Amino acid sequence: MARLDIDALPIPAKLRDKPLPTLDKSYHWKDFLLMVAIHLLPIGAFFTGASWVEWTACAVLFWVRMFAVTGGYHRYFSHRTFKTSRVFQFILAFLAMSSSQKGVLWWAAHHRKHHKYSDTPWDAHSPIRHGFWHAHLMWAYYPDNDATDYKQVRDLAKYPELVWLNNHWKVPVVTVGVFCLVTMGLPGLFIAFGLSTALLWHATFTINSLSHVFGSRRFETTDTSRNNFLLALLTMGEGWHNNHHHYMGSTRQGFYWWEIDMTYYILKALSWVGIVWDLRPVPEAVLEEGRRAHTPASTAAVIDAEVARRASGVAGPSQQAA
Ligand SMILES: [Zn+2]
Ligand SMILES: [Zn+2]
Repeated sequence: MARLDIDALPIPAKLRDKPLPTLDKSYHWKDFLLMVAIHLLPIGAFFTGASWVEWTACAVLFWVRMFAVTGGYHRYFSHRTFKTSRVFQFILAFLAMSSSQKGVLWWAAHHRKHHKYSDTPWDAHSPIRHGFWHAHLMWAYYPDNDATDYKQVRDLAKYPELVWLNNHWKVPVVTVGVFCLVTMGLPGLFIAFGLSTALLWHATFTINSLSHVFGSRRFETTDTSRNNFLLALLTMGEGWHNNHHHYMGSTRQGFYWWEIDMTYYILKALSWVGIVWDLRPVPEAVLEEGRRAHTPASTAAVIDAEVARRASGVAGPSQQAA
């Protein structure tokens, strides 16, 4: 088995002459501190207390918005793996955006680029290129990643309501925050909104960070994507990330019955009542390839060693405050 040279991962021909992106700019620290502030909201519950109503709302908001991120942002808007009505498309976008992960077109454009350039220098969030924290969340505060690349999402940009949402990405999350405050008071703001939003952020972000570091590799993709059972439970199926990098066109990411994929089960149920349709299957040839596949120990060891080497030696972007 040939050594997998991460520095020699395929780079698209049209980018070969383009200068390498740099990571020497300062992050948007003010926006970052706003995110930190939301992390601190749950502390308020030590002073106000919280009832089962707020804790239940916290769980509901976590899982409903997780579904919207994985079923909406990822499997619908980024990969178009099923079809739905314009109304439900809007609902998916609004709910996903209430997770405070910027606009629907911004998210999809960056994600499509992630697949095009996985673990190359142009990948916005590669843990082996940029280190854990940049890949986990700081990349979203890095100036080069501010813009929505409309060339990547022409199919979505034809819907004015999605473009409007994308340009006003704070509207859905503020709506949810105000709703929690008005209906449940301060404990609602602290637990139902603050805690669920912070947990949702980190659970989602593990797919960019941990799912490229920990887990098994069924398919020998030219990136470091992994399958991870625990992350799949936490993220309603997104943890089958190596499957997904190998074949991104299917609605389901858990390819086999034992690969639990809650997002897919919910989408399947929604298809029975006509809310979504044309769920794209995993081709039989891919399933068969997966059944035969096993990652040679030599490849896994090379990747593990490289990840460890980079984790200890790669300097992150400028840590200086603006
Ligand atoms: Zn994807
Ligand atoms: Zn990935």
